[in-house]
Amino acid sequence: MKTTIPFNNLKINDQQVQAEIEQAVLKVVRSGSYILGEELSLFEEVFADYLGVKYCVGVGNGLDALKISLRVLGVGCGDEVIVPANTYIATVLAVSEVGAVPVLVEPSLKDGLIDVSKIEAKISHKTKAIIPVHLYGTPCDMDPIVALSKKHNVYIVEDNAQAVGAVYKGEKTGSIGHVNAQSFYPTKNLGALGDGGAITTNDPDLARKARLYRNYGSEMKYHNEVLGYNSRLDDIQAAVLRVKLSYLDEWNQQRRILQKQYYEGLSMVKHITLFDQKDINEIQDAPHLLVARVKNREALITYLSDKGIATGIHYPVSPYEQRGYSGFFKDEIYPCADILSKEVVSLPLFIGLTTDQVNHVIATVKSAYHIL
Ligand SMILES: *Cc1c(COP(=O)(O)O)cnc(C)c1O
Repeated sequence: MKTTIPFNNLKINDQQVQAEIEQAVLKVVRSGSYILGEELSLFEEVFADYLGVKYCVGVGNGLDALKISLRVLGVGCGDEVIVPANTYIATVLAVSEVGAVPVLVEPSLKDGLIDVSKIEAKISHKTKAIIPVHLYGTPCDMDPIVALSKKHNVYIVEDNAQAVGAVYKGEKTGSIGHVNAQSFYPTKNLGALGDGGAITTNDPDLARKARLYRNYGSEMKYHNEVLGYNSRLDDIQAAVLRVKLSYLDEWNQQRRILQKQYYEGLSMVKHITLFDQKDINEIQDAPHLLVARVKNREALITYLSDKGIATGIHYPVSPYEQRGYSGFFKDEIYPCADILSKEVVSLPLFIGLTTDQVNHVIATVKSAYHIL
């Protein structure tokens, strides 16, 4: 059957601001300044303000934001970095690419995020940093992570790729760690019209180093202080992002309303397990994905697909099971992460999805369980 409800539709979202975006792009096209220009500085300024940090450094993508964050902290060969076992591969790759060893920590089945109670056992004298990932747009419990960071003298690098706009106890995610990474990949809550990323920090020295690393290691042309990368957020993307940033809170609010509707509609369905909702006063999600756990996932996905409803899986193969990592995590077991990778399914959640459509998805999921 034809897809009636897609998993995502960026076009609807972008059409809402199309005229403004086109104007912003045209301005850059006519400016003659495309890399490390004024639009980039303007975006960096408003984005830092938005998150409540002193510095923002625009980079090429989220993976590079993570990599450069680790590099500016001096993380490299011989070091260990703690990452959740349930995350997108980029978090783990960033650690490997700077030459350090990713040390995985199980997720909690309550929220799918790093199980904070299992971090300390994995800290060794080689541990340099912890990367909490605010997966699906839900903030990790940062207080105990900050306490561990102080107690063991390890850095925090937030992977805020999926949660731009989320709030943890009055602070935006991406402003809590020592140096933090965001992604502006088009499907992210704040998405560019191509690749993009940013590093945020309150530390002037780390910000300066991040500026070096993103631009070949050089502050002054042809003088390279460190062996850097070519990873700059270009001015066209920065201009687009500055337009979209002014709508982000409104869009995240729309996502919260859709999320609430799903929770109200599905929480009584006994075949479906939803992640716990956080105390709304203290923690505010920036819902990125609507993830449910089900035992008979393939049957549900097929049923929905037959009815024209598209779904996703985030993620079907955990980083430690990837072929690219074969032999690396060989004797390690992650039973909770295994449960998630077998049971999670993501339902449509995007700007432009209507209340009626969500009701239709809920009704169709319910009808599936009379049959499956
Ligand atoms: C998207 C994503 C990244 C990487 O971002 P890119 O811009 O695609 O490089 C990193 N971590 C998480 C959790 C992500 O979802």
